[in-house]
Amino acid sequence: MTMTRREAIGHVAGAGLGFAAALHVAGGLSSPGAQAPPIPAATPPPGDPRFPMVPSWKAEFRKLGPDVFAFIQAGGPGVGAQGVSNAGVLVGDDHVMVIDATGAPLHAKALIAAALQAAPRKPIRRLINTHHHGDHVNGNQFFGPVEICSHPYCRQEVLKAVPGTPRKWDKREGWADGTEDRKLVPPTTTIDGRMVYYYGDMPVEVRFVGPAHTYGDLVVYIPQYKVLFASDVAFFDVAPFAHNAHVGKWLETVDRILKMDVDTIVPGHGPIGGKKELAEMAEYFRVLIPEVRKRYDAGLTPGRAAAQIRLGKFDNWIGPERVVMNTVRLYNELRGTGGPDYDVEGTRRATEEYNAILAGRTG
Ligand SMILES: [Zn+2]
Repeated sequence: MTMTRREAIGHVAGAGLGFAAALHVAGGLSSPGAQAPPIPAATPPPGDPRFPMVPSWKAEFRKLGPDVFAFIQAGGPGVGAQGVSNAGVLVGDDHVMVIDATGAPLHAKALIAAALQAAPRKPIRRLINTHHHGDHVNGNQFFGPVEICSHPYCRQEVLKAVPGTPRKWDKREGWADGTEDRKLVPPTTTIDGRMVYYYGDMPVEVRFVGPAHTYGDLVVYIPQYKVLFASDVAFFDVAPFAHNAHVGKWLETVDRILKMDVDTIVPGHGPIGGKKELAEMAEYFRVLIPEVRKRYDAGLTPGRAAAQIRLGKFDNWIGPERVVMNTVRLYNELRGTGGPDYDVEGTRRATEEYNAILAGRTG
């Protein structure tokens, strides 16, 4: 199947709505009023014809070591489900650890089926929630009575989101068949430094590396195989989400990871990569930051700034419209008003202004 660029972008934009919705309903928003209207979807900016679109990637369950597996969900231009997240499976002597629960019933069930295939007679006993975003924690309910480990900030944000969680999963092709009851299950155990689990002779290090993508990011490192499950500290071929981030500290975290003994990095979104891909994601921010700073210094609103900013090859990554929320976040950091919470009102205002400017330009 071939698609024009415009079709591809439209497709991606539609899928992006799903991702935004997934974030909103379960823990993506830190303190939205119950009556707060939803933030409109940002219009994707045009791509940059000087660079190719990123290629699509396939779903896979890839063995990265004898007992180490990455669960990758498909994505890319025209694939549709850009809101889906990746996960990991580690097999021990008598049980399995899963890294992240994914964000929807059908995704979680596929992940559990893959874990069973990797270790047919071993139950899943431990689940890591790398951070509180819905696309990583909404699947918790499908794992049964397991230990769920997270950073304290992640647990706190999931607990905040529990009362507002709908009782049913909405029917959605490839996500939920619409029959499942819905329950947001909070983490049972918190880790705020470094914890090492032993799976046979394989040490598994769970490390707090935030603030970065959020103020509660955990990564899982398997030194023996030089594998890092970086979750949303890494976005490959996908524009990073910084709405809960501290971008400056995120870049410091990336620099620390680049010095680690790691060959393979499993990102939260996008295909499996390594240090080169992680450095490229950092480059996204290193291109964005000076563009934002210039416009902040000139007194532009963040919505107008985002409408002007061009990111070259990064405009051809999946989700280029995230430039709006990322610009809002950088404005907050420049003003010294950044913090763990999502700036819901600031993002709404900026998105409305940005969309109006883009509509005026093309319409
Ligand atoms: Zn996230």
